[in-house]
Amino acid sequence: MAVYLDHNASTPLHPEVLEEMMPFLQVAHGNASSLHQSGRFLRSAIETARQRVAELVNCAEQDVIFTSGGTEANNLAIKGFVEAGEATCVLSSAIEHPSVLQPLHQMEKTGTSYHVMPVTSEGVIHMEQSESLIRQHMPQLISLQLANNETGVIQPVQPLGRLGHEISGALVHTDATQGIGKIEVDMQQLDVDMMTLSAHKFQGPQGVGALIVKRASVKLNSALISGGPQESTYRAGTENVAMLVGFGKAAQLARINLRDRQSTLLELRRKFERHLSDFAGVFVFGSGAERLPNTSYFSIPYYHGETLLMQLDKAGFELASGSACHSEVTLPSHVLSAMGIQEDLALNAVRVSFGVDNTPQQIDKLIDTLNRLINQIPAAMRQAVC
Ligand code: PMP
Repeated sequence: MAVYLDHNASTPLHPEVLEEMMPFLQVAHGNASSLHQSGRFLRSAIETARQRVAELVNCAEQDVIFTSGGTEANNLAIKGFVEAGEATCVLSSAIEHPSVLQPLHQMEKTGTSYHVMPVTSEGVIHMEQSESLIRQHMPQLISLQLANNETGVIQPVQPLGRLGHEISGALVHTDATQGIGKIEVDMQQLDVDMMTLSAHKFQGPQGVGALIVKRASVKLNSALISGGPQESTYRAGTENVAMLVGFGKAAQLARINLRDRQSTLLELRRKFERHLSDFAGVFVFGSGAERLPNTSYFSIPYYHGETLLMQLDKAGFELASGSACHSEVTLPSHVLSAMGIQEDLALNAVRVSFGVDNTPQQIDKLIDTLNRLINQIPAAMRQAVC
């Protein structure tokens, strides 16, 4: 079986998550809004999941709004806020996920301006320039990712958010999709008003996530998906109970096992990058910044990223070139472009994102394979970049 090294794209379901979900797929039935016993049983399973998600990020249970995933949560945060008439100006960063950038772009057409904070060559949102942008534009909303899905670089959400609160009274949303299960994510410590989560990035099921909204301070338009009263009318539609149960279980496991997971992932990445540095001319993006423990985004100068990806796939290793979300487009990643990385280097980018089930032996095999592939390149080409 292929070695899966693409955990920032999606993680395999944890066996205990599947186990917890099974009764809700096989036996439990009904609608969580029904008043009879079956309905009440489903309702209480949803509320247990809500409690577990709230515990994971340290927020109030009633602030958890379940969604179909990170994309919907980001859309709800931005469109919901803007459409509630709460924002005429939004600040975000140049390296956000498309599910933040596209809604911002759409909102611009309806008269809300948005401006992007630049990043350094290490992929960190630029503090001084961002502070100037806050002073200049006085936004009502600031939306910043907690960690980048491509580079894994962790962003200064708390200090920038504090500046936004102080300077322009902005509310702060963070897309924490890539942080959960890899670093500690605490809504109070981060001091944010809204936060996006997605279950499939930390061994939960696909198609389920949440927007955490501090309801006491944030006014959102509830009409992104309107209909029944589910999720306090923020998100109408019959709940997908099995998926929510899986999300809750994954959240519980992520909270309990965070320290172990972090050290396992960090060891794997350190080992990998130690060996990687033996190859001439390899460049690891964001290596000078604080990064998620599982992510290594690198470029081998004489190897086009997609070609390397296909060769490694053939050899039994699954990883990503650029971001999986735009892997069908051969433009350089917008994240690397924002970091000022030259196009040829950016087009060679390949991302390895480890999971807790990966092993040091798999890394040895990957390094052997990379060695073999690199040695197949004519020596003259290799020397050109040494
Ligand atoms: N934000 C980030 C940073 C992501 O990496 C992703 C997933 N690629 C999303 C949002 C979207 O999450 P989902 O797949 O649950 O829609």
